[in-house]
Amino acid sequence: MLSGETGVLLAYHLKTLKLPVFLREYQKIAARCAKEQGDYARFLLELAELELIEREKRGTERRIIEAGFPVRKTLDTFDFTAIPSLNKQLVLELARGEYIKRIETVLAVGNSGTGKTHIAIALGTMACCEGLRVKFFTAAALVTALIEAKDDKSLGRLRKQLARYHLIIVDEFGYVPFSKTGAELLFEFFAERYERSSIFVTTNLPFEQWTEVLGSERLTGALLDRLTHRVHILESNGESYRFKESARRLGKKAKTKPEQAISGNQTTGGLTEVTHTD
Ligand code: ADP
Ligand code: MG
Repeated sequence: MLSGETGVLLAYHLKTLKLPVFLREYQKIAARCAKEQGDYARFLLELAELELIEREKRGTERRIIEAGFPVRKTLDTFDFTAIPSLNKQLVLELARGEYIKRIETVLAVGNSGTGKTHIAIALGTMACCEGLRVKFFTAAALVTALIEAKDDKSLGRLRKQLARYHLIIVDEFGYVPFSKTGAELLFEFFAERYERSSIFVTTNLPFEQWTEVLGSERLTGALLDRLTHRVHILESNGESYRFKESARRLGKKAKTKPEQAISGNQTTGGLTEVTHTD
């Protein structure tokens, strides 16, 4: 940092203007620009670019923390060959994030350990990098939050908060059945997001069994109607990756059959099209 009055004042102003990279880098860049005989505009441009890059990085990190992912996952570490039933093309297309801007839904359906949560987190993280606000919930945690908010009369506030997210991931739908109030609040949540902002649901449950979790056929019908309106379905059936990995590590061949998740023809094998009914 420059010594003397100029240096002190400059440091003060840059702090006030919240330009920490300017403050950290200006002398180094000034020295280089002087050596390379760059002009003042060049000097300012370089500093502004550095500040911007760091600000974007900090913003992305802030959004990733706010999303509340249970672990960090990226597509780089996802082995598509291990889950051949998964439509890789569709995953890569979704990774571009356009579906969020088009307010479409993603449903990842498949048995346990086939990478649904991994993909949801990876795509959620990419959305954070694109400047979008993302929130991750398990279905159970979301329902608990909604019930608690209803009980202490802060449901309106919670709904407003949730509406600010461009993408909400609802993980593990179907693992735990909901109470009547829980199912109704979850339905309202989906209905509110319908045609307003995106959701990404992961489930191990075939559609025909959703009634068992929601408790009402009418509610399930209405919910599925909304969820499947503009939907991308990622189907990932097969052997659990976790199981295969641990079996490989133990040097044994996996013997157990994967649990049955999807039956019938309610999904069309990694559907790539979006259903547009309007
Ligand atoms: P699901 O949500 O379908 O039950 P997860 O995404 O939680 O499965 O996967 C279980 C574990 O296995 C996670 O640690 C995940 O990162 C890993 N995993 C699953 N599928 C793959 C894959 N194809 N490549 C790399 N890791 C995978
Ligand atoms: Mg999961």
